[in-house]
Amino acid sequence: MIYPIMSTSFDSNCYIIKSKRVALIDSGIDPTKILKKIEELGTGIDFLINTHCHYDHIGGDLWIKEKTNANICVHGLDAGFMESGNRNGTLAELFGGKSSEIKIDTKLVEGQVIDLGKIRLEVIHTPGHTPGSICLYEPKSKSLFSGDTVFSCGVGRTDLPGGDWINLQKSLEKLLDLHRRSGVAKIYPGHGPIGNGNDIEKVYRAYF
Ligand SMILES: [Zn+2]
Ligand SMILES: [Zn+2]
Repeated sequence: MIYPIMSTSFDSNCYIIKSKRVALIDSGIDPTKILKKIEELGTGIDFLINTHCHYDHIGGDLWIKEKTNANICVHGLDAGFMESGNRNGTLAELFGGKSSEIKIDTKLVEGQVIDLGKIRLEVIHTPGHTPGSICLYEPKSKSLFSGDTVFSCGVGRTDLPGGDWINLQKSLEKLLDLHRRSGVAKIYPGHGPIGNGNDIEKVYRAYF
């Protein structure tokens, strides 16, 4: 079961995915709504999976860790910025926050599977917005959690430290390939409304 917690500001969208175990995709800047939701569901959080290292996605990590002892996961290429609290990597000040050092429990790699029980999340490395940006694919419902790589009407910025337009293009091609091969029914992006797989195609044609 997917419980979207949609942002109404510059904060990121967050998603709770509940099976036998529970994953939270991104903690946002203010995780109050997340903590309220898990209380309502009567559950904890086993995995806090960050789609990348930017503050609008990780700002609540330490708070979530303290309350739930979740295993904090991020791709290895973005882990260093978080572990050292590198503000040029996390952009904490840009979002009005303060960078903290966040210990990463699991450094994710391409193809890794996060097993929640009946639901499995597959890690797809999609660099471009940041070097360690990832998307997560859930094959049963054909859901793609796309972070800031692709939105229902656009792509993530590449003018921030570590951003790379050519890598972003290759990442979009990787997602298009996934859509053609396995099908993407819905995309759950880091910002803006939930979309569908055809949005990846539309966005690709508009931007590249
Ligand atoms: Zn973002
Ligand atoms: Zn970002």
